Amino acid sequence: MTLDVSTNPYDDDKFHEECAVFGIFGTEDASKHTALGLHALQHRGQEATGIVSFDGKEFHAHRETGQVGDVFDKDRGIVEKLKGFAAIGHNRYSTTGGDMVRNIQPLFADFEFGGLAVAHNGNLTNALRLRKELVKHGAIFQSTTDTETLIHLMAHAQGNLTERLVAALRRVEGAYSLVCMSRKKLIGVRDPMGVRPLVLGKLSEPSKDSTAYILASETCGLDIMGAEKVRDVLPGELIVIDEKGVHSQFPFPKMAERFCVFEYIYFSRPDSIVEGHSVYTARKAIGRELAREHPVEADVIVPIPDSGVPSAIGYAEESGVPFEYGIIRNHYVGRTFIEPTDEIRHLGVKLKHNANRAVIEGKRVVLIDDSIVRGTTSRKIVEMIRAAGATAVHMCIASPPTTYSCYYGVDTPERSQLMAARMSHEEMRQAIGCDTLTFITMDGLYRAMGHAARDPAKPAYCDACFSGDYPIRLTDFGDSGGQPAQLSLLREQKAG
Ligand code: SF4
Repeated sequence: MTLDVSTNPYDDDKFHEECAVFGIFGTEDASKHTALGLHALQHRGQEATGIVSFDGKEFHAHRETGQVGDVFDKDRGIVEKLKGFAAIGHNRYSTTGGDMVRNIQPLFADFEFGGLAVAHNGNLTNALRLRKELVKHGAIFQSTTDTETLIHLMAHAQGNLTERLVAALRRVEGAYSLVCMSRKKLIGVRDPMGVRPLVLGKLSEPSKDSTAYILASETCGLDIMGAEKVRDVLPGELIVIDEKGVHSQFPFPKMAERFCVFEYIYFSRPDSIVEGHSVYTARKAIGRELAREHPVEADVIVPIPDSGVPSAIGYAEESGVPFEYGIIRNHYVGRTFIEPTDEIRHLGVKLKHNANRAVIEGKRVVLIDDSIVRGTTSRKIVEMIRAAGATAVHMCIASPPTTYSCYYGVDTPERSQLMAARMSHEEMRQAIGCDTLTFITMDGLYRAMGHAARDPAKPAYCDACFSGDYPIRLTDFGDSGGQPAQLSLLREQKAG
């Protein structure tokens, strides 16, 4: 699904991560810790959240639209009711209309072996085809998520929980970091290419003489509760956590790893350590490489906050041009602040960003942003910087041009809406209204990540939204990726 900028004046013209997952096993406050973890992972999904817990006898669940701090506000007393020593949780970026509530995860199903809760970050790219098959054979779906396809595949498989999960995952294509919870186990699994992140952590509670194990999308979900990172869950790895500890297996054929490079550019929180790299340090390195590739005569380096900040620091360090907060972000703009009427729509970007005239006026400004998607916000920000008295505005982007949609779990516009897919470089520059427009090259991005260059025969990352080189089949979309993006929401009328 895509946000329509014509009806959403707060849209910040970015790709959006679809989901965060979190799970914990072995502490009596499992739901409280899950709520904390989800709060730290809020940036990966702001529209809906949910927790399912297990107390040794019963599962307890709460799912609701809204942000973690509001849904699980202590005054509502919801977390206290989600009792148990194990829990999993999920944040979702966006669902639409009437489908909103029933698509909120974790999903839950009753199997022969008991209940199972499932939370998924990613997108299954053959879920629609599989769903049609399942429906033909009598399956009745409760939601329109790709994740439910997995649950039906498990119901049709044989064996114990883990065997059924592996059998189901062998039939799916796509990107997934999954966290599942049964009556006795917490399970984490990453797709064989490891497109989306998942870390294993540990929370030692000496006062209770206990150790709880955690699965989380990012390390910031561990830091918030003083837990330590044990390691990344590896691509293709399935981890089972039970009362005897942590057990690992690799049940899928080994494949070349293709972690999402956009996690470093934009999605992950800068204080997270992802796949062994500090996201903050990676962004600074990208900024330095950008400065080496595209030096500009300028007086001041200004980030478009917040995501442009580390790259702008790197660019300033490398170029020797001073870094300044030339744009101040209002962090308190909610999507429901004002109805998006025509009268306020023209305010656009100013609801969220304002130029800091004191450091802009009379200066040649280099603006640093992480990416350009539709380009609508970039144009308004350049206008704002010129209105604040800049004598020149140079736009430097800390990623290559975004020319393809993502089908691996990211809310992304259709290709026809991506500025770089429909315009030449010069047309983009003119549309944005800047004096110069530069993007880091693909090789520059790989150099910043510690590689000599991008190896086209064996790229180290998924970079499909820049290259069109999709590492996992797009069965539901046509392998060119040219069909309209359905992402994780499968439309009912097509699935019937
Ligand atoms: Fe990440 Fe882009 Fe690949 Fe999607 S297409 S997984 S956003 S690199």
